[in-house]
Amino acid sequence: MAFRRRTVEREVPRRPGVALLEAHVKDLCEEYSITIASASSRGRAIRYVGGALEIAIPEIRGQVTYLIALHEIGHLVGAGRSAPRLEAEANAWVWALDNTEVEPTDASLKSIGRRLDGYLEWALARQYRKHPPRIPPPDHVFWRLRALSGTSRDASWAAP
Ligand SMILES: [Zn+2]
Repeated sequence: MAFRRRTVEREVPRRPGVALLEAHVKDLCEEYSITIASASSRGRAIRYVGGALEIAIPEIRGQVTYLIALHEIGHLVGAGRSAPRLEAEANAWVWALDNTEVEPTDASLKSIGRRLDGYLEWALARQYRKHPPRIPPPDHVFWRLRALSGTSRDASWAAP
């Protein structure tokens, strides 16, 4: 019996491997009736007229690509998904972090912050427009997540 038990334990990975991360994404897509379109190097989420949901995600190779997949699902089913662009991006990351089955590493969190940095730069470069992209209010979670990047090149836009 003892031998048998040890054998079983050895078969269970101590930390979820890529196959398990992939399985979790598939389970979530099944749960929410989301189709996974062909792989895309950049993630994207689509809600078709009529309600069909689809994501395109990079191949899951580790934590960052797994979190990107969860983020795209978050765009479709998470709270605050209809918020203005930058806020919706942060909200989709909140959904990903609430639903991840692995504890994100510092590097993963940093990569999330960097992605929000990128959106902020995009929005700041378009503030001259008649309808500029909205900069999230100071109390929005956007700023806390963005701070994970560890960079503060533009401190004037950092939340108080
Ligand atoms: Zn996004």
